[in-house]
Amino acid sequence: MVDAKRRIAVLVLLAMMTGCGGGAEEEKDHVRACSANLHNIASACTTYSSMNRKYPESLQSMLKEGKEMFPSDLLKCPGDNSQRACGYFYVAPEQEADNMTLMLCDLPGNHKQVRCVAFKCRVIKQLTKDEFQAALKLPHNAAFAAALEKAGG
Ligand SMILES: [Zn+2]
Repeated sequence: MVDAKRRIAVLVLLAMMTGCGGGAEEEKDHVRACSANLHNIASACTTYSSMNRKYPESLQSMLKEGKEMFPSDLLKCPGDNSQRACGYFYVAPEQEADNMTLMLCDLPGNHKQVRCVAFKCRVIKQLTKDEFQAALKLPHNAAFAAALEKAGG
């Protein structure tokens, strides 16, 4: 009897451990895959800007007119459980904008702990809520911050 009880206790404990561990691991995997998405999209934006002397007006515009500069499934954040086709927010930076101007970010709620962002220079970062808010306050991110606020997030 004692043995059976102990065995159940161990099994419950194991289930709890793997349950919690799995969630955190899954979150990490999502952030990693999301960052890779952003890197590929940002690279396509850079390629577009060097060909057209301006950044694309929207991410969707890069998939139209036979351009297809990246596969459309890159627009789906792996952490986004909604049905929306695009999990990212994008604002075209000016050609001459600061290299660390925000260009792309996760929509709110895609990930629990961080928001993945891409800067104009194709650097990808995973920012906490506070870090993200601090980045939005920088003068060269004013246009991005205003557009994001207008979009509700
Ligand atoms: Zn994401």
